[in-house]
Amino acid sequence: MLKSALIDAARDLAPDIVSLRRAIHAEPELGLETPKTLAKVRAALDDIDLEWRTGTSCTGAVATLKGSKPANEGRGRVLLRGDMDALPMDEKTDLEFASTIPGRMHACGHDTHTAMLVGAARILAAKREDIAGEIDFMFQPGEEGYHGARFMLDDGLLGGNEERPLPGAAFALHIMPNAPFGVIGGRAGPLMAAADQFTITVKGQGGHASMPHDCVDPVPAAAAIVGAVQAMVTRRFNAASAVVVTVTQIHAGTAHNVIPDDAVVAGTMRTLTAENRAKVHALIAEVAASTAAAYGVSAECEIEHGFPVTVCDERAVTLGAKVSRELGGDGAWRDLPNPIMGAEDFSYVLEKVPGAMFFLGVAPQGKDWSACCAIHSPRMHVDENALPMGAATLAGCALEFLDHGWT
Ligand SMILES: [Zn+2]
Ligand SMILES: [Zn+2]
Repeated sequence: MLKSALIDAARDLAPDIVSLRRAIHAEPELGLETPKTLAKVRAALDDIDLEWRTGTSCTGAVATLKGSKPANEGRGRVLLRGDMDALPMDEKTDLEFASTIPGRMHACGHDTHTAMLVGAARILAAKREDIAGEIDFMFQPGEEGYHGARFMLDDGLLGGNEERPLPGAAFALHIMPNAPFGVIGGRAGPLMAAADQFTITVKGQGGHASMPHDCVDPVPAAAAIVGAVQAMVTRRFNAASAVVVTVTQIHAGTAHNVIPDDAVVAGTMRTLTAENRAKVHALIAEVAASTAAAYGVSAECEIEHGFPVTVCDERAVTLGAKVSRELGGDGAWRDLPNPIMGAEDFSYVLEKVPGAMFFLGVAPQGKDWSACCAIHSPRMHVDENALPMGAATLAGCALEFLDHGWT
């Protein structure tokens, strides 16, 4: 199929993609349960013959489109993914379709991802007679810290058994409101970081603030740990390998004249390799314990694992660049020089299936994109005119893989 036909089909679908996006935007859902969003998706695809799979762990669903042609050897199925969940925050836009639910907002653009995926499904369903093999459309809840993709994998919705192996390739898009309009960006290797949380509890012995010598004060130790953690990052890791440790919480005390028993220091650790991930976990516990010991207190470090590193397959990135250029010309693709230290749970899929996530710039056309609010801003804004390009890119990546594989 000619790629120009995909763009034309996506433009024809633009009103539907936009109205679905706005309906999802107005009624955001959080976490692993997004039943109303899934109902909107299913209604939008109601007239299309798709095979639906749902699991028990969350409201994730996979819809499979079966092409009319037999699959090519070694590339029977490809997966496209869109996430459905929003963030627990108040929206501060004045959009007519702004969130109707206080404390919830689609500030990460997952409303647009879902709408573009529905658009891709409609584009591809209309070309079913040209499709060799199958396409899985993965509608996923719980991306914002809830491990929704992992639950869907564990439920077997993506395959992974003899009867239904995992797909041969997987692709996803993430919008970027502070990136040039309509441009697709990607990179081979690490694209986004592993994100893990730490909570260090410093244990001393409280008492009267005027008599610290009769107490074991945990507060100076906690303050020293904050500094020691930064020294650990700069002194114990190669400067060329990105490691970010950010202390985001310090809790201690209840009154100006009481030394507390405990102090808590908590934050996030971002790494780009499994090796550095394990190393930072071990070192932060060691640094906390040793620093605490120097102050005569003890420290316990608890680590909660977040998402793994999002690693894009070089072949999938080459494929995405080719498709983007065919759809939008040479300027439609940009090689990203660096990973970003945010995290993404599509990483669970990419641990098992070769593929890639790409970023789609949605800054308003003609505006200074670098000055636009980023994702997770309460004022985040999407130029919806970029959404057909996203839907066409997803559809194009699926077709390119089924037709030509990684060549
Ligand atoms: Zn997000
Ligand atoms: Zn997101």
